[in-house]
Amino acid sequence: MKTKLFPVIFLVVASFLLGACGASVEEPHPAGPVHWTYEGEEGPEHWGEIDPAYAVCGTGTSQSPIDISTPNEQDLANIAFHYQPSEVNILNNGHTVQVNYEAGSYIELNGVRYDVAQFHYHAPSEHTLNGEVFPAELHIVHQSTDATLAVIGILLKEGAENNAYQPFINNLPAEKTDAKDAAVKIHAMDLLPNVQTTFRYSGSLTTPPCTESVNWLVMTTPVELSSAQLSALDALFEDNNRPVQELNDRPLFEDSTP
Ligand SMILES: [Zn+2]
Repeated sequence: MKTKLFPVIFLVVASFLLGACGASVEEPHPAGPVHWTYEGEEGPEHWGEIDPAYAVCGTGTSQSPIDISTPNEQDLANIAFHYQPSEVNILNNGHTVQVNYEAGSYIELNGVRYDVAQFHYHAPSEHTLNGEVFPAELHIVHQSTDATLAVIGILLKEGAENNAYQPFINNLPAEKTDAKDAAVKIHAMDLLPNVQTTFRYSGSLTTPPCTESVNWLVMTTPVELSSAQLSALDALFEDNNRPVQELNDRPLFEDSTP
Protein backbone atom coordinates (compact mmCIF):
# COMPACT_ATOMS: atom_id res chain seq x y z
CA MET A 1 0.00 0.00 0.00
CA LYS A 2 1.33 3.33 -1.00
CA THR A 3 1.80 5.64 1.92
CA LYS A 4 1.22 9.29 1.48
CA LEU A 5 2.47 11.73 4.01
CA PHE A 6 0.23 14.66 4.26
CA PRO A 7 1.25 17.69 6.17
CA VAL A 8 -0.52 17.55 9.43
CA ILE A 9 -1.67 20.74 10.93
CA PHE A 10 -2.40 20.64 14.58
CA LEU A 11 -4.82 23.34 15.41
CA VAL A 12 -4.38 24.15 19.03
CA VAL A 13 -7.58 25.73 20.10
CA ALA A 14 -6.50 27.65 23.12
CA SER A 15 -9.58 28.42 25.09
CA PHE A 16 -8.08 31.13 27.23
CA LEU A 17 -11.46 32.57 28.15
CA LEU A 18 -12.87 29.33 29.49
CA GLY A 19 -11.89 29.55 33.15
CA ALA A 20 -14.68 30.83 35.32
CA CYS A 21 -12.57 33.62 36.76
CA GLY A 22 -9.73 32.89 34.42
CA ALA A 23 -10.29 35.44 31.73
CA SER A 24 -7.30 35.62 29.45
CA VAL A 25 -4.81 34.58 32.08
CA GLU A 26 -4.64 30.80 31.88
CA GLU A 27 -1.18 29.51 31.12
CA PRO A 28 -0.91 27.68 27.80
CA HIS A 29 -0.82 23.93 28.39
CA PRO A 30 0.36 21.43 25.74
CA ALA A 31 -2.75 19.27 26.05
CA GLY A 32 -5.14 22.01 27.06
CA PRO A 33 -6.02 22.89 30.62
CA VAL A 34 -6.07 19.93 32.99
CA HIS A 35 -9.60 18.95 33.93
CA TRP A 36 -10.91 20.04 37.33
CA THR A 37 -14.22 19.85 39.13
CA TYR A 38 -16.01 21.21 42.19
CA GLU A 39 -16.16 17.86 44.01
CA GLY A 40 -14.32 14.55 44.31
CA GLU A 41 -10.75 13.74 43.31
CA GLU A 42 -10.38 16.77 41.04
CA GLY A 43 -12.22 19.04 43.50
CA PRO A 44 -11.03 22.24 45.24
CA GLU A 45 -8.99 20.43 47.96
CA HIS A 46 -6.94 18.81 45.18
CA TRP A 47 -6.64 21.61 42.62
CA GLY A 48 -3.08 22.40 43.77
CA GLU A 49 -1.96 18.82 43.11
CA ILE A 50 -3.58 17.91 39.81
CA ASP A 51 -1.30 20.10 37.68
CA PRO A 52 1.91 22.05 38.46
CA ALA A 53 0.29 25.05 36.79
CA TYR A 54 -2.39 24.96 39.53
CA ALA A 55 0.09 24.73 42.45
CA VAL A 56 -0.79 28.13 43.90
CA CYS A 57 -4.36 26.84 44.44
CA GLY A 58 -2.84 24.79 47.25
CA THR A 59 0.16 26.87 48.37
CA GLY A 60 -1.10 30.42 47.84
CA THR A 61 -1.71 32.63 50.87
CA SER A 62 -3.78 35.29 49.05
CA GLN A 63 -6.55 33.11 47.68
CA SER A 64 -10.23 33.79 46.95
CA PRO A 65 -13.04 33.67 47.85
CA ILE A 66 -13.06 34.70 51.53
CA ASP A 67 -15.59 35.20 54.26
CA ILE A 68 -16.08 38.95 54.59
CA SER A 69 -16.24 39.94 58.25
CA THR A 70 -14.85 42.83 60.33
CA PRO A 71 -13.62 44.86 57.35
CA ASN A 72 -11.60 48.01 58.02
CA GLU A 73 -13.91 50.94 57.08
CA GLN A 74 -12.22 53.68 55.12
CA ASP A 75 -13.21 56.45 52.72
CA LEU A 76 -11.72 54.93 49.57
CA ALA A 77 -11.62 56.41 46.08
CA ASN A 78 -14.84 55.45 44.29
CA ILE A 79 -14.91 53.18 41.28
CA ALA A 80 -15.67 55.24 38.16
CA PHE A 81 -17.94 53.22 35.88
CA HIS A 82 -17.75 53.67 32.12
CA TYR A 83 -20.01 50.81 31.06
CA GLN A 84 -21.86 50.76 27.73
CA PRO A 85 -24.67 48.43 26.66
CA SER A 86 -23.21 45.49 24.74
CA GLU A 87 -24.22 42.86 22.24
CA VAL A 88 -23.04 39.67 23.92
CA ASN A 89 -21.72 36.19 23.19
CA ILE A 90 -22.74 33.56 25.70
CA LEU A 91 -21.08 30.21 26.36
CA ASN A 92 -21.34 27.35 28.82
CA ASN A 93 -17.77 26.19 29.61
CA GLY A 94 -18.86 23.29 31.81
CA HIS A 95 -18.09 25.27 34.99
CA THR A 96 -20.29 28.34 34.52
CA VAL A 97 -22.12 30.36 31.91
CA GLN A 98 -19.94 33.18 30.68
CA VAL A 99 -21.09 36.31 28.86
CA ASN A 100 -18.39 37.90 26.71
CA TYR A 101 -18.75 41.67 26.58
CA GLU A 102 -17.89 44.00 23.71
CA ALA A 103 -14.73 46.08 24.00
CA GLY A 104 -15.02 49.65 25.22
CA SER A 105 -16.60 49.30 28.67
CA TYR A 106 -14.34 49.85 31.64
CA ILE A 107 -13.91 51.00 35.20
CA GLU A 108 -11.28 53.35 36.57
CA LEU A 109 -9.83 52.59 39.96
CA ASN A 110 -7.02 54.59 41.55
CA GLY A 111 -6.03 55.94 38.13
CA VAL A 112 -5.95 52.56 36.39
CA ARG A 113 -8.34 51.56 33.60
CA TYR A 114 -9.70 48.01 33.72
CA ASP A 115 -11.71 46.88 30.68
CA VAL A 116 -14.71 44.58 31.02
CA ALA A 117 -13.93 41.18 29.49
CA GLN A 118 -16.82 39.00 30.63
CA PHE A 119 -19.22 38.18 33.43
CA HIS A 120 -20.29 34.82 34.80
CA TYR A 121 -21.86 33.42 37.94
CA HIS A 122 -21.49 30.95 40.77
CA ALA A 123 -24.34 29.31 42.70
CA PRO A 124 -24.27 29.36 45.65
CA SER A 125 -22.12 32.45 46.30
CA GLU A 126 -18.36 32.17 46.68
CA HIS A 127 -17.85 35.12 49.05
CA THR A 128 -19.80 34.94 52.27
CA LEU A 129 -20.83 37.85 54.50
CA ASN A 130 -20.20 37.15 58.20
CA GLY A 131 -20.56 33.49 57.32
CA GLU A 132 -23.79 33.96 55.36
CA VAL A 133 -23.92 32.14 52.02
CA PHE A 134 -26.03 33.82 49.28
CA PRO A 135 -27.94 31.92 46.58
CA ALA A 136 -25.61 33.13 43.83
CA GLU A 137 -22.81 35.58 42.96
CA LEU A 138 -22.07 37.41 39.73
CA HIS A 139 -18.48 38.18 38.74
CA ILE A 140 -17.71 40.97 36.29
CA VAL A 141 -14.12 40.38 35.17
CA HIS A 142 -12.01 43.37 34.10
CA GLN A 143 -8.46 43.49 32.81
CA SER A 144 -5.95 46.35 32.57
CA THR A 145 -3.51 46.77 29.70
CA ASP A 146 -0.78 45.21 31.86
CA ALA A 147 -3.04 42.16 32.41
CA THR A 148 -3.92 42.97 36.01
CA LEU A 149 -7.41 41.78 36.87
CA ALA A 150 -10.15 43.54 38.82
CA VAL A 151 -13.27 41.51 39.54
CA ILE A 152 -16.53 43.01 40.78
CA GLY A 153 -18.51 40.50 42.84
CA ILE A 154 -22.26 40.96 43.25
CA LEU A 155 -24.04 38.86 45.85
CA LEU A 156 -27.47 37.78 44.61
CA LYS A 157 -30.31 37.25 47.07
CA GLU A 158 -33.95 36.26 46.75
CA GLY A 159 -36.43 39.10 46.35
CA ALA A 160 -38.11 41.00 43.54
CA GLU A 161 -37.80 39.90 39.92
CA ASN A 162 -34.93 41.73 38.26
CA ASN A 163 -35.55 42.68 34.62
CA ALA A 164 -31.91 43.55 33.97
CA TYR A 165 -30.86 39.93 34.54
CA GLN A 166 -33.62 38.38 32.43
CA PRO A 167 -31.91 38.57 28.99
CA PHE A 168 -28.99 36.66 30.55
CA ILE A 169 -31.27 34.11 32.22
CA ASN A 170 -33.27 33.66 29.01
CA ASN A 171 -30.10 32.67 27.16
CA LEU A 172 -28.41 30.21 29.51
CA PRO A 173 -27.01 27.35 27.38
CA ALA A 174 -27.98 24.13 29.18
CA GLU A 175 -25.06 22.18 27.72
CA LYS A 176 -21.37 22.91 27.28
CA THR A 177 -21.04 25.00 24.13
CA ASP A 178 -18.83 27.48 22.31
CA ALA A 179 -19.66 31.17 22.46
CA LYS A 180 -22.74 32.08 20.48
CA ASP A 181 -24.18 35.44 19.62
CA ALA A 182 -27.15 35.76 21.96
CA ALA A 183 -28.85 38.46 19.88
CA VAL A 184 -29.59 40.44 23.02
CA LYS A 185 -28.15 43.60 24.46
CA ILE A 186 -27.10 43.73 28.10
CA HIS A 187 -26.05 46.81 30.06
CA ALA A 188 -23.66 45.77 32.82
CA MET A 189 -24.52 48.99 34.69
CA ASP A 190 -28.01 47.60 35.29
CA LEU A 191 -26.56 44.47 36.92
CA LEU A 192 -25.06 46.53 39.76
CA PRO A 193 -26.81 47.48 43.01
CA ASN A 194 -27.91 51.11 43.35
CA VAL A 195 -25.32 51.77 46.06
CA GLN A 196 -21.91 50.93 44.67
CA THR A 197 -19.68 50.80 47.72
CA THR A 198 -17.47 47.73 47.89
CA PHE A 199 -15.43 45.48 50.12
CA ARG A 200 -11.90 45.38 48.74
CA TYR A 201 -8.99 43.01 49.14
CA SER A 202 -6.24 41.41 47.10
CA GLY A 203 -7.08 37.83 46.16
CA SER A 204 -7.01 35.32 43.35
CA LEU A 205 -8.95 33.67 40.59
CA THR A 206 -11.45 31.33 42.24
CA THR A 207 -10.81 28.64 39.63
CA PRO A 208 -7.57 26.94 38.53
CA PRO A 209 -4.90 28.22 38.03
CA CYS A 210 -5.91 30.38 41.07
CA THR A 211 -3.55 33.18 39.98
CA GLU A 212 -3.07 35.83 42.67
CA SER A 213 -2.86 39.66 42.59
CA VAL A 214 -6.52 39.98 41.57
CA ASN A 215 -8.18 43.19 42.80
CA TRP A 216 -11.43 42.06 44.39
CA LEU A 217 -14.31 44.53 44.66
CA VAL A 218 -17.32 42.88 46.28
CA MET A 219 -20.45 45.04 46.38
CA THR A 220 -21.57 45.66 49.97
CA THR A 221 -25.23 45.71 48.84
CA PRO A 222 -26.66 42.46 47.44
CA VAL A 223 -28.89 42.53 44.34
CA GLU A 224 -32.35 40.92 44.36
CA LEU A 225 -33.45 38.28 41.88
CA SER A 226 -36.72 36.39 42.03
CA SER A 227 -36.89 32.84 43.27
CA ALA A 228 -37.56 31.66 39.70
CA GLN A 229 -34.57 33.58 38.36
CA LEU A 230 -32.27 32.14 41.02
CA SER A 231 -33.64 28.64 40.36
CA ALA A 232 -32.79 29.02 36.66
CA LEU A 233 -29.18 29.85 37.58
CA ASP A 234 -28.99 27.07 40.15
CA ALA A 235 -30.42 24.42 37.82
CA LEU A 236 -27.56 24.43 35.32
CA PHE A 237 -24.68 23.15 37.43
CA GLU A 238 -24.02 21.26 40.60
CA ASP A 239 -22.68 23.75 43.15
CA ASN A 240 -19.96 25.72 41.32
CA ASN A 241 -18.52 27.69 44.23
CA ARG A 242 -15.01 27.33 45.62
CA PRO A 243 -15.04 27.15 49.45
CA VAL A 244 -13.83 30.24 51.33
CA GLN A 245 -10.08 30.55 51.85
CA GLU A 246 -8.06 31.90 54.78
CA LEU A 247 -7.69 35.70 54.86
CA ASN A 248 -4.26 35.32 56.51
CA ASP A 249 -2.65 38.71 57.05
CA ARG A 250 -4.35 40.48 54.14
CA PRO A 251 -6.07 43.81 54.76
CA LEU A 252 -9.81 43.84 54.04
CA PHE A 253 -11.46 47.21 53.50
CA GLU A 254 -15.00 48.51 53.24
CA ASP A 255 -15.51 51.78 51.41
CA SER A 256 -17.47 53.84 53.91
CA THR A 257 -18.86 56.46 51.49
CA PRO A 258 -20.86 56.16 48.24
ZN1 LIG B 1 -16.06 33.71 39.20
